[in-house]
Order: sequence, then C-alpha cells, then structure tokens
Amino acid sequence: KVLMATVKGDVHDIGKNIVGAVMSCNGYEIVDLGVMVPAAKILEEARKEEADIIGLSGLITPSLDEMVHVAKEMEREGFSCPLLIGGATTSRVHTALKIAPVYSGPVVHVKDASLAVGVSQKLLSPSEKIRYAQAVQEEYEQVRKDRSAPQIVEVEPYQACLSRREAWTPWNPPAPSWLGARVFDEVPLQEVIDLIDWTPFFTSWEMHGRYPAILSDPVVGVEASRLHMDALQMIERLRAEPKHACRAVVGFYRAVSDGDDIVIFSPDDQTEQARLPMLRQQGKRGTGRASRSLADLIAPIEAGVQDWIGLFCVTGGAGLDDILAEWELKESDLYHSIQAKAVCDRFAEAMAEWAHLQARRSWWGYAAAEDLTVEQLIKEEFQGIRPAPGYPACPDHRLKKTIFDLLKPSETIGVNLTESCAMHPTASVSGMYFGHPSSEYFSVGRIGKDQAAAYSARRHEEISETERWMQLYLAYNP
Ligand code: SAH
Repeated sequence: KVLMATVKGDVHDIGKNIVGAVMSCNGYEIVDLGVMVPAAKILEEARKEEADIIGLSGLITPSLDEMVHVAKEMEREGFSCPLLIGGATTSRVHTALKIAPVYSGPVVHVKDASLAVGVSQKLLSPSEKIRYAQAVQEEYEQVRKDRSAPQIVEVEPYQACLSRREAWTPWNPPAPSWLGARVFDEVPLQEVIDLIDWTPFFTSWEMHGRYPAILSDPVVGVEASRLHMDALQMIERLRAEPKHACRAVVGFYRAVSDGDDIVIFSPDDQTEQARLPMLRQQGKRGTGRASRSLADLIAPIEAGVQDWIGLFCVTGGAGLDDILAEWELKESDLYHSIQAKAVCDRFAEAMAEWAHLQARRSWWGYAAAEDLTVEQLIKEEFQGIRPAPGYPACPDHRLKKTIFDLLKPSETIGVNLTESCAMHPTASVSGMYFGHPSSEYFSVGRIGKDQAAAYSARRHEEISETERWMQLYLAYNP
C-alpha cells in the first residue's frame, strides 16, 4: 500500500497521478491524498492506512524544504517505512544532501514514473530490501562526499554585470487600449482550441516525440493516436460542462526600469504602484556579450520616454475540481481524470497563446500586421515574449505575488496563489508581456552573493529569505 501526496503549498498533480496509475496497474494499492497536503495530515493518514511506502511529490522550489520537513516529522514520530521523492525540482543530489540525512528509514529519489514500480518492489521484497536500502544509502553517501566541498560556481561581480547590460533602444510602441486589469470571462473557445500545442500533452503522459509526427511513430504511434482521440473527446465533454471555463485577466501598465527593478505606475496617475525586481545574468561570458535582465527590455527611467508592460493570468481549468467530483470517477477511471487535467493544462497554455496574440495584434497593438501560422506561433516567432515567474529569465516565483496584487485574479477568474506561490487551479499560467523588438527568452543562471544581497535589499528582506527562495540558483553555499 502506497500513500502519495503533493506537499503543502504545491499543486503538482499529473506526474504524481501517473505514478499512481502505473503502480496500481502493478498491484499496489494507492492512497492518494491529493495536492497541498500538510505534513501532519500525511503522517496521520499513513498511520491510519498502515502504508508500506510514502511517496511525496512537488514541482516548485519551496516544496524541497517542505519535503525535508515531512521527513523530519516522520523521524520524530518514529516512522520507519520507505520514503519516495519525486517531481520536477527534486533531484538525487537534493534527496541525498537534505532529505536522506534527516530520516533513518530508506529514502529514494525516483526520477520518473516508470522507475517507481522497480524501486518499490525492491524496497518491499523481504530478500532484497536490506541490500537495496544499503546500496542506495552508499550511493547517497558518495553524493554527499562529492558535494561536501562548497558548491561554488564562478560568477562575475554584479557591478560589472550591471555595466554590461544591453543598452535599451527606443522603439515607439503605440499606447495599449486600456490601463489596469481587464477580465475576459467569455473567450471564443474554438479559437483557443485551434492554438493548442499538442507536443507537451504527450510529454505529460511521458511519451516523448513531436506532434503530429508522434501519431505515426512506429513504436508509440498507435497509443499516441488513441490518447489524442480521447483528448479530443475530453475537450468536447468539458465544453459541454457549464461549470468548466477558460478565463483570462490582462492588464497593461505604464512602466520604466530603475536599475534591475521594473517600476509599474498606477493606471490612474503617475505614482509608483508596484515594483518587479529582476535578476541579472552573472555567469562568465565572452567579451562583448551582454549580461541580460528582463529589466533591460523596459525604457530606463533616465530615458524619460513612455513605455509599457503587460501582465496576464489565464486559466483553462476553472471548475475542474467540482466537475471531477461530480463525475464520481471510480478508481478505474483514473485515466479519465488524468486526461481531463492534461486537457485543461492544454487549455491554459492555449489561453496564454490566445491572450498574447490579442495583446500583440490588438489590445496593445504593437504588431497589428502580424500574420503567423499556428506552427509559427508555437515556435514563438512573433515579436515580444511572455516570461512566466519560476522560469529561467525570472526564476523567483514570488513575482507572481505582485502580478496577483495588481490583476486580482482570485477575485475575478478564481485563480489563487498558495503560500509557495503555486497557482491553483493547476491549469493556470501567469506572466508578463514585453513587446520590445529585442525581447528574447534567456536564463539568469546562478547568482553571486553580491547580487543576492542587492536583490534582498531591493526586496526589503533578509538575505536568508532570498537564499531560501533562490536556493537552486545560488553560485555559492549560503
Ligand atoms: N506551447 C507551450 C508553451 C509553454 S513553454 C505549451 O503549450 O506548453 C513556453 C512558455 O514558458 C513561454 O511562453 C513563457 O511563458 C515561458 N518561458 C519559456 N522560457 C522562458 C524563460 N527562459 N524565462 C521565462 N519564461 C519562459
């Protein structure tokens, strides 16, 4: 019997459900506690259910700390069952360094769903379990030894990087058609559906290959086609559900950059309403190569010209939790519930594409003459970008707090932020619009202590707080 949960503050779901499905097909009984589950609840249910294994899942950075907390609680309450760790930000290194040392039972990082059964079999087999647990322990001990030297990555001084910023060039965009937030409750769903990028749909089912080629792949083609047909049916089923909705809220704001902060002005007057502090690349780079920051895409305050930024939050999964509850899916219907969630994720990304397209061609209108095919849109061949907090150009998830303060999506389209800055419903996307012609995605990479200090000062917080949220991006050991 395996008890699974996505930890408190996190909403990672599909990957965990697929692990559950794979395991239940292999004869394990799965107790899935769902998402945002506090440690106390996990332990209580594990005891009540007499779980043989506990599996924790998480997608965003703060979940790493939450998993350490759960492991400590398991130790404190005298648990001894194996603990499996999985999800996008988790890793063998983090598991070895931070989780395994605080829990005396077996702790194993499981890289993907297909490995969960093998690991569990070994952990529960009377003849193998001791040997296997020992082997993992030795492996993690080695990881700890390799990593015990400070994890220092060489970076350039932050001041030097600031002076290597790419100079902003004037581009004279038109003024957006409105300032402040505007809600889109009724969206032309067919237009949104036509913009679906199907490739990530197959990835979420752990099938790797590009759409549409994957449909005729000699190995997975038949199954991929079946999945795709079922998804199209699911789209129709959700469309018929009055409770299901795709919604958006989009805002445009006058903005300037002030150093590495983007300053947003109140729609009503020219007073500062909010700041989006950005991070800058500090990695070693060749001569002549700029150190980039998203702040460089907005007119610097010294330029004295008018510039704008857009903010957005969209969801493709409003009402889904209620609908799934109403459908009263049985355990054997797990496939349909994963399918519904995967389809809603596609709705959300397609909504992001749809709203961005409207923004460029009409709402903001700086690319009114744009004429691109869906393939070109998916390849992002348009002018401008829509970076999303938590992704490489703006890795701090907390930017979502500012975006949510301004757009208020919880009041209007029902999207909320958890304490770890995950969005709920899961099938939601939020981010910023940059229209400048030189806008490109990039990766901030690792930051030095000098930048962490400057950033924490700009955020008015202790450096330790910055270091906690940015732990995966530090070039030094805090
Ligand atoms: N068509 C894909 C889009 C998702 S991935 C889908 O349907 O799933 C692409 C999105 O991730 C971008 O639109 C942007 O919002 C975000 N993104 C990608 N690279 C990024 C980066 N380097 N920094 C910030 N956001 C990024």
